Amino acid sequence: MSKRDYYDVLGVGRKADAEEIKKAYRKLAIKYHPDKNEGDKTAEEKFKEAAEAYEVLSDPQKRQRYDQFGHAGVGSSAAGGGGGGGFSMEDIFSQFGDIFGSGFGGGFGGGGGRGGRRVQKGSNLRVKVKLTLEEIATGAEKKLKVAKHVSCDKCDGTGAASKSGINTCSTCRGSGQVTRLMNTMLGQMQTTTTCPTCNGEGQTVTDKCRQCHGDGVMRGEEVITVRIPPGVHDGIQLSMNGKGNAAPRGGIPGDLIIVIEEAEHPHFNRDGNHLYYEHYVSIADAALGSTIEIPTLEGKARVKIDAGTPSGKVIRLKAKGLPDINGYTRGDLRVTLFVWTPTNLTSEEKKIMEKLRDSPNFQPKAGKKDKSFFDRMKEMFD
Ligand SMILES: [Zn+2]
Ligand SMILES: [Zn+2]
Repeated sequence: MSKRDYYDVLGVGRKADAEEIKKAYRKLAIKYHPDKNEGDKTAEEKFKEAAEAYEVLSDPQKRQRYDQFGHAGVGSSAAGGGGGGGFSMEDIFSQFGDIFGSGFGGGFGGGGGRGGRRVQKGSNLRVKVKLTLEEIATGAEKKLKVAKHVSCDKCDGTGAASKSGINTCSTCRGSGQVTRLMNTMLGQMQTTTTCPTCNGEGQTVTDKCRQCHGDGVMRGEEVITVRIPPGVHDGIQLSMNGKGNAAPRGGIPGDLIIVIEEAEHPHFNRDGNHLYYEHYVSIADAALGSTIEIPTLEGKARVKIDAGTPSGKVIRLKAKGLPDINGYTRGDLRVTLFVWTPTNLTSEEKKIMEKLRDSPNFQPKAGKKDKSFFDRMKEMFD
């Protein structure tokens, strides 16, 4: 027996909108509901078939794949004649509970997972870590003292004062779920919800630990060593699995999320992996040529400048910027040179300058429109 077309199952056209699909499914679900068709295997199959069709057609992504590839596109081809594609009645109720109307007392689709006990999860923690550009260049190891929920040391996180203080929950007998009969618009229905007594944990603490009052966690702190890779930037987030708040009674701890902050640098501006720096040279050095010292993240670099270097010239120190976070490339240090105009000259300096003032070589050349700063930058690097 091959599977029926989902649109045929629900009796809607291929262009049906979400509301139509929901209505059609609701009608079938009411018609074939097991509570109205006790012991009727055909009705049960129809009920499951409709649920499977609805599961696919109510999800825009699945519907698109189904439209394009048919049953194979939604991974349901293997189900063959079985119908229902492996859906259990419980799945149908827990996934589509809302379609039968609210008022079931909650618990549908809640974090309990499928048919199992609920495991508590600790919350995530966020901490900011401020790094200098030097630290970003090399990567850094930071020891952080993090205030957080830690496992209670008195009860080892169990929440109980003694071994006999933990008991299987008597309401759900340890399953974490309770099955109830409810009166609904469809008549009486069986529903499965998270056990209200134990919150789905399957156990209750009868003799509570005096230190944590049965929570299994308490306020504390942990010193955590964080390795930060080279090349991070402001706002990037690194996640450390399981280093967040401890979870009550042996659950899964949350994550520690490290938010990187970049400290202002006294010399450099950063753009991506490139660094920018402005350096002043004397009139004499610019005119005669010289060797100057430029600060870098690692220390200093000595750089030769040509005689006749114009103010605004940009020199590039290749790979003296920041490493890319993927580790393959490194940015540049781009230095803009400005000629320093002296102030407060001595009378002797003034005399020398007076002599130079009228010298033809000191006359600015009139003429061509000066290229803009960015044009010159482009010329340098393209
Ligand atoms: Zn229980
Ligand atoms: Zn305790």
